[in-house]
Amino acid sequence: MRSHYCGAINESHIDQEVTLYGWVHRRRDHGGVIFLDLRDREGIAQVVVDPDTEDAFAKAESVRSEFVIAIKGRIRRRPEGTINKDMPTGAVEVLGKELTILNASATPPFQLDGYVDVGEDTRLKNRFLDLRRPEMLNKLRFRSKVTSYIRNFLDGQDFMDVETPILTRATPEGARDYLVPSRTQPGSFFALPQSPQLFKQMLMVSGVDRYYQIAKCFRDEDLRADRQPEFTQVDIECSFVDENTLMNIMEQMVREMFHDLLNVDFSSFPRIPYSEAMAKYGSDKPDLRIPLEFTDVADLVAPVDFKVFAGPAKDPKGRVVALRVPGGASISRKQIDEYTKYVGIYGAKGLAWIKVNELEKGAEGLQSPIVKFLGDDVAMQIMSRLGAENGDIVFFGADKAKVVNEAIGALRVKVGEDLDLFTCKWAPCWVVDFPMFEETSNGGLTAIHHPFTSPACSPAELKESPESALSQAYDMVLNGTELGGGSIRIHDGEMQKTVFGILGIDDEEAQEKFGFLLDALKYGCPPHGGLAFGLDRLVMLMTDSQSIREVIAFPKNQSATCMLTQAPGTVDAKQLKELNINVRKSVKEES
Ligand code: ASP
Repeated sequence: MRSHYCGAINESHIDQEVTLYGWVHRRRDHGGVIFLDLRDREGIAQVVVDPDTEDAFAKAESVRSEFVIAIKGRIRRRPEGTINKDMPTGAVEVLGKELTILNASATPPFQLDGYVDVGEDTRLKNRFLDLRRPEMLNKLRFRSKVTSYIRNFLDGQDFMDVETPILTRATPEGARDYLVPSRTQPGSFFALPQSPQLFKQMLMVSGVDRYYQIAKCFRDEDLRADRQPEFTQVDIECSFVDENTLMNIMEQMVREMFHDLLNVDFSSFPRIPYSEAMAKYGSDKPDLRIPLEFTDVADLVAPVDFKVFAGPAKDPKGRVVALRVPGGASISRKQIDEYTKYVGIYGAKGLAWIKVNELEKGAEGLQSPIVKFLGDDVAMQIMSRLGAENGDIVFFGADKAKVVNEAIGALRVKVGEDLDLFTCKWAPCWVVDFPMFEETSNGGLTAIHHPFTSPACSPAELKESPESALSQAYDMVLNGTELGGGSIRIHDGEMQKTVFGILGIDDEEAQEKFGFLLDALKYGCPPHGGLAFGLDRLVMLMTDSQSIREVIAFPKNQSATCMLTQAPGTVDAKQLKELNINVRKSVKEES
């Protein structure tokens, strides 16, 4: 039996006989003495085997990297000069007396005893080895700490952990569904839940009062760095609360967790209305570590004879903003060209700029390709509105508001990173007062949060002007990443039908798709609300990881494939027949 984890031995064990199990991390032959670094999930211990112990020595000579072995031996202090202060076990070593080889290992496809930059697909294909690396194992360990912290906190606040189905009907969160064909009901499909939204609401109707679940959710959408087709939410719902109470409980949980697990104290946690976030940062998930803000200048440029600016300035759906970057005048032309390409990704057709060299000389002190089109007066009025100073650069965005917000919003973050303008390491906030709806490309309306979110007005007011109605939704944002979001829900059937109506879901469709919810709302549904945190993103931020794939044990790659199991895979004809599924010939040939 193991007496200690490798990583747990220290000076208090000196002279004790121990039995360690683990993987050979590294083997060094020091002419006559063999050193083995033995690794298990808790760390690494140095084992010394000398030729006096013949049998152990012969075996130590034969082991290779990643062999699994057992060592019996005595702990002793390392000789003076060989103590490794960087290792928790670095003051001691094990003098190995018996060595048992429990299993051999083929040569790993990539080195495990140090950082090597192998492609991500190779790592994912060999994830069982990739996860042996201490930094990866530590991320899994940290994730487990986060989930148990959250469970403890919520249990302490009387939340009840309830599981909800995975085989279910569509739960609209704005993505495509993953479908599962039913064998027993030919032609019918289950949908995997995009979230447990409707079930948690029905649990409130049942009187559960406070619910949580660490829930798998499934969304078939195009993947980005922080998206996975299946991901984990900390899903929460609560009855008889208002927005403030809910936000306070959640803020307390996140604050205390950052304090207890990372020793980080958030200095402030502002609540920013959506309209203000969009006005200042062009984003509903602003990165508040970066002290740059948009300034609207449409009124100043509308009269000028420069269509690139005047056009959007006069367009009700257009926007013209200036982004003043203190100290940015040193940015090179080449870098500006890079930024121009960068904003192009977001649909911007160009990137206008003005460098502020010598403001005391008036417009002459400005360096820019556009001042001649704006005219000196307008250029100087802009400078004065911005409070510009020598050494600044001012970037401009002029287009449809959506393009400006996305392009200059992304530029704001990029420039902030490049010039290292961060004012702090952690900047959390809530974004509140979201609109209920946004316009779709075909002119209809879609719910910004989801169709079960309560508006902040009456059904009559909502019908009257749905475009301007605000919702009781809130998002928690950290460093420009949405950590979670939720809302107070509709608990009244009439209001729910009104919202469905505005979304173009008629009574018949509402009954067919959400009849169970409308039924539940009839039977004394309490006022309720909740939210869900993206666990993967939370752990990604807390561990300073580059992507959520780094904090998920077995993630899919960017093409939504599991490199390890090669899922999704084909299935045999018999299975398809049982499911009454015919795969189109052209698809078969392609694959
Ligand atoms: N169901 C929502 C989501 O997945 C969260 C919530 O409203 O509680 O985004």
